[in-house]
Amino acid sequence: MSLKAEIIGIGTELLLGQIVNTNARDISERLSSLGIDVLYHTAVGDNPGRIDAVFRTALQRSDLIITTGGLGPTLDDLTKERVAEVLGLPLELRAAELETLQSRFTRRGIEMPPNNIKQAMFPSGSLVIPNHNGTAPGVIVELGRQSIVILPGPPREIRPMLEETVLPYLARKAGDSPAVIKSRVLKLCGIGESAAEEVIRDILLAQSNPTIAPLAGSEMTFRITAKAGNAAAAREMIDAMEAKVRARLGKYIYGTDSDTLEEVVGRLLREKNLTLGLAESCTGGLIASRITAIAGCSDYFLSGVVSYSNTAKVEVLRVPATIIADYGAVSSETAKAMAHGIRQVSGAAIGLSVTGIAGPGGATPTKPLGLVYFGLATPENLQAEAHQFSGDRTTVRTRAAHQALVLLWNYLQK
Ligand code: ATP
Repeated sequence: MSLKAEIIGIGTELLLGQIVNTNARDISERLSSLGIDVLYHTAVGDNPGRIDAVFRTALQRSDLIITTGGLGPTLDDLTKERVAEVLGLPLELRAAELETLQSRFTRRGIEMPPNNIKQAMFPSGSLVIPNHNGTAPGVIVELGRQSIVILPGPPREIRPMLEETVLPYLARKAGDSPAVIKSRVLKLCGIGESAAEEVIRDILLAQSNPTIAPLAGSEMTFRITAKAGNAAAAREMIDAMEAKVRARLGKYIYGTDSDTLEEVVGRLLREKNLTLGLAESCTGGLIASRITAIAGCSDYFLSGVVSYSNTAKVEVLRVPATIIADYGAVSSETAKAMAHGIRQVSGAAIGLSVTGIAGPGGATPTKPLGLVYFGLATPENLQAEAHQFSGDRTTVRTRAAHQALVLLWNYLQK
């Protein structure tokens, strides 16, 4: 029988709308890949009475309770204290944990504030979840068939704690006892979520171990998760699943795990000894910003021009004024002329341009909001293509910048 899980986000910030409960999403996604059913997400502020009430309710209905947040050193960090109180377990100081904590401070040349001592206190009989990225370790309390997993708030601390300790623990608890759980994320571009899912529908329906699941987020991604006796076996299972998916969607898969499109594009430019110049209108430098976020991009990125006005397009990029007059600034002809212009002006092998209507104003009956033209000038060719994006100004700009990188990636693939 599968475990019924509940995730409790603790922190007033969540209720004030200051932060989004991405921990609940991330943890749910990982639990479902283990076949654990998450039945409730709850959020509660830093209030002892309400934390107790939410926790008591969870104890009545869930086999597995995972809390996030409230493990810090300050007075309003209450999670461990409340859980221990509700369960009637005394908190005890663990010498080894205190030492680890103290040495973290010593390494940074700081004396540990006395407040932090409470981060080395744990409910009696509980297991410690090491946290290599912060001061607050997590806790596992076992209570008959129930388990309570207490994690800190920051996502960058939680993720490794899940991988290294919590997921293997839960997999054992869920009935199978794999030594390792490994996963790999496949990142796609140039295809929408439903289209991608449709192409591998049968694989998604037939999955068991490894599992494969689409991930929420701004990009199309699939996560493959394998449970196995050792890391090599898990990797082999993942490789086999990846090969199956690649056989159908390979031309859309630009990378895995922490790869980003700008990184992959940069790698290809370097490998092929090509350089890039950018001419951006409606994206206002967003593409250049992503390209230059990659260390070492000076190997291949020469220059980017934000040519917002028609005059700038003409004077800086040498777009013939007649092209703008005849076809408009948002047109495939202008996009091509901009790409050609930046290629000439920068001396780069590839010129990439964007011109479009990000909104909310500026649309005409023939040129609707969200219409964006991309120009690509290469040693072989000068081409343009149009895309229609939906969403507000920020969304259109972000999507257009992403599409420009997709276009570049497609060209570099060839
Ligand atoms: P710390 O040891 O850093 O004080 P903590 O365990 O006390 O951590 P909180 O103080 O509750 O955690 O939260 C710290 C930060 O972690 C928040 O400011 C927020 O950025 C992030 N965070 C907390 N809860 C969530 C959540 N549910 N989803 C996403 N991020 C969160």
